[in-house]
This record gives sequence, C-alpha cells and structure tokens, in this order.
Amino acid sequence: MRVEKGNVTLEIVQGDITKQPDMEAIVNAANAELMPGGGVAGAIHRAAGPELAEACRPLAPIRPGQAVITPGFRLPNRYVIHVLGPVYGRDVPSDRLLADAYRNALKVADAHKVRSVAFPAISTGVFGYPMEEAAQVALKTVLEEASRLQHVRHVRFVLFDERARDIHEKVLAHLEPTT
Ligand code: ADP
Repeated sequence: MRVEKGNVTLEIVQGDITKQPDMEAIVNAANAELMPGGGVAGAIHRAAGPELAEACRPLAPIRPGQAVITPGFRLPNRYVIHVLGPVYGRDVPSDRLLADAYRNALKVADAHKVRSVAFPAISTGVFGYPMEEAAQVALKTVLEEASRLQHVRHVRFVLFDERARDIHEKVLAHLEPTT
C-alpha cells in the first residue's frame, strides 16, 4: 500500500528491515546502549558487521525519543538511524515519546540529505507497545512531518509479519482516505 502526501511517498510493506537495498537509510529500534541485543537491533548489527557497534559506542547512551546516525557498513544502506522508543507504560507519556522517535529520525535523515528512509514498528517488540496504538502514532507523526521535509521523498514502513502489516494498512487507510 502507498499514499502520496505532499512531496513524500509513504509505503507499507511486509518484510525484513535489513533487506531494503533501495533505501538510503534504515531505522534501528535500538536500546539505550546502542548495542546489538535481539529483534531489529540484533538483525541490523549482524547484517552491518562489528564496525557498527564500534561506531555506536561513542554515541551511547541515548534517551527515549532521541535519534543518532551512523554509516550502514556492510548493509546495503548508506546510513542507519538509531532511535530509542519508549518502553510501553514505563517511559511516559509513551505516545509522545514514540512520536518523538519517528520525528527525530526523520529530522536526522533530512539533515543528512537522505531521500529514502525505512522504519520498523518501533517499540512493538520487547518494549510492549500494542501494535495498533503504535501504528496510529507512527503513521500520524510521519504524515504530519511530511510537509516539513526538504530531502526525504520516500518513507517505507517494513512490518515483519502479516498481522502488523494489515494493522498498519488499516490505520493508514483511516488517517488518509483515498478515493
Ligand atoms: P523494541 O525494543 O523497540 O520493541 P524490537 O526489535 O523488539 O524493538 O521489535 C520491534 C518490531 O520489529 C516488532 O514488531 C518485531 O516483530 C519487528 N521485527 C523484528 N525483527 C525485524 C526485522 N528483521 N525486520 C523488521 N521488523 C522486525
């Protein structure tokens, strides 16, 4: 599914965030220490190689909602943008911190003249954010931010399973009805 918002194409696909070779940057659902760990962070560090953890070390720790950028090393992407999402119900207000994570990732991308960015569903794994609530915040934030972006022209949400993809498509159809 894809929609056009201003100059930005917003797309929803099912897939693996480490296998998006046409995107200039991918976003990592990082931990505060920017270390490999499980889930998205584990997959990204495995694919990027050990240079990624080395590059991250001086940038850590980061706070919920914050975003930092590194090269992609052995990934097919030029950059990895690392963001820390909120732990649902512990880092509060979780909705605002999740919106900050998406907004700050887009700002960092734009500041680096990045044209295309792929996001996973931040905070919806071990951080426990319910998928539909997270999708509302994520998609609403990207749609709001789209008109302010100078360089970013393509934003892709890469959802790991069919259920997550379906939820995002339903939420986007509701936020941005097409005729
Ligand atoms: P968080 O700690 O922010 O909750 P996780 O990495 O635990 O982050 O999970 C975030 C979401 O990403 C979950 O919905 C999970 O199913 C999904 N996910 C896990 N691995 C991948 C991957 N390789 N590509 C895309 N999404 C993934």
